[in-house]
Amino acid sequence: MSTVEFDSVGEWNAQVPLLIVGAGAAGLCAALAAKEAGVDAVVIERDGVPGGSTALSAGLIPAADTRFQRAKGVVDSPDRLAADIQRKAHGEAPAALLETIACSSASLIEWLAERHSLPFELIQNFNYPGHSALRMHGLPSRTGRELVDRLRNAAELSEIVVLTGCIAQTLFAQKDGRVGGIEIVRGDGSRERIGCNAVILACNGYGGNPELIRRFIPEMANALYFGHPGNRGDAVLWGERLGAELACLGAYQGHGSVATPHNILITWAVIMEGGFQVNAQGRRFSDETCGYSEQAAEVLRQPGGIAWDIFDARIAAVARQFEDFQAAERAGAMLFADGVDELAVSIRVPADIFAEEWRNVEALKIRGAMDRYGRRFSAEQALRPPFFAVKVTGALFHSQGGLAIDATGRVKRKDGALFPNLFAAGGAAVGISGTTAAGYLSGNGLLTATVLGRLAGQAAAALVSLSS
Ligand SMILES: Cc1cc2nc3c(=O)[nH]c(=O)nc-3n(C[C@H](O)[C@H](O)[C@H](O)COP(=O)(O)OP(=O)(O)OC[C@H]3O[C@@H](n4cnc5c(N)ncnc54)[C@H](O)[C@@H]3O)c2cc1C
Repeated sequence: MSTVEFDSVGEWNAQVPLLIVGAGAAGLCAALAAKEAGVDAVVIERDGVPGGSTALSAGLIPAADTRFQRAKGVVDSPDRLAADIQRKAHGEAPAALLETIACSSASLIEWLAERHSLPFELIQNFNYPGHSALRMHGLPSRTGRELVDRLRNAAELSEIVVLTGCIAQTLFAQKDGRVGGIEIVRGDGSRERIGCNAVILACNGYGGNPELIRRFIPEMANALYFGHPGNRGDAVLWGERLGAELACLGAYQGHGSVATPHNILITWAVIMEGGFQVNAQGRRFSDETCGYSEQAAEVLRQPGGIAWDIFDARIAAVARQFEDFQAAERAGAMLFADGVDELAVSIRVPADIFAEEWRNVEALKIRGAMDRYGRRFSAEQALRPPFFAVKVTGALFHSQGGLAIDATGRVKRKDGALFPNLFAAGGAAVGISGTTAAGYLSGNGLLTATVLGRLAGQAAAALVSLSS
């Protein structure tokens, strides 16, 4: 059980300048940035091999005005990225934090590409809802596994110590909130106390803690959790005990397209490229292009908590750039047919209703018109046989609420003052998606994890250097 002990005087088994809890994207970026600033961090990771939710993601990071965009003639700017994020967050994203993140996004991608040899590419053959420019940067496999493996490799090359198989359990703090160290528990049950000058919490949110989900996000209490099970809300629990400000705890990233029963993510590209969703009665039920996050709850509200993604071979070819999509094909999640009626039979929905929805969508495409939910279709996206269908459900990916921070990742107290030496980044900190699932713009997760991880690493290193 994660806890805080106040003013406890004891012996440290070791003393290090900077402790980072969690070796996902946020923790590893923080450690790399601190090292570059001349400060050695020790990263504590509960798993045997670092992965976290980062490894489960598609590894796509939005960034504005990168050299990758300029090389392809894409015009973008940090202001535009911030405006897109703020529009999706209904104006609820903390403005100063958002500006810092947007302005630091290009340098983050270029830093990882140039200094740490991560071979980013600009994703050009589809865009996610709400992004007004092509700005998703991904690695060749389009997987978060590759992202975290490459970050871990960079950490190894930088001789950063990652203590794997160790759970950070007890934070030792003084009454003024200064954190003196952490007790870790190893796999064999042994405990060690490591003293430090500063701490960065990069242990993500509370998606893996059913009790906290019931408390903060009841609408997803019964949903499939698709994130890392080790993210048990330790940052929020420590923060509560320390008197930290916790913000936007009901916000989350969901996803309305997880193949069931296979539990494999089906990229939202299948929708954005002209596909659509119907429920078990063969009916469409929403504007799917609002975003995949809020679509999770929409899908769960349908009969049986499922929907069918409907698309075609052209769209499948786009989606195949994602290994997850290929895995879903190998697992037999896709059904195919050459005709609409035949597809209705395969997915067992009423053929007349399904055919009517299909005719409506395709007619709207020809006219470039808007449907009854406000979705606008485009003529280039007509579906042609063979047609594809995959049964999906809605899932919880990660919580978006967390510790309130300043623009350097320093954790805030309830009274607005800053903790002396406590930082948070990634899913441990409050996100930039406002208070609901609908505020999540695709990419917000890794954008905040990587950019804020780097900024927190730099700021913590500066603090440690000053104090030593
Ligand atoms: C299926 C899926 C797809 C996604 N796709 C995208 C995408 O394409 N783009 C995007 O921007 N975002 C995406 N996201 C969200 C994104 O993955 C997260 O926002 C991001 O990975 C968070 O990074 P992090 O470093 O904060 O957390 P994590 O990567 O989860 O790392 C946290 C680490 O902390 C460790 N830890 C936790 N508690 C402790 C403890 N007490 N002691 C020691 N270690 C601890 C965990 O084991 C874990 O390794 C996706 C999420 C999911 C689940």
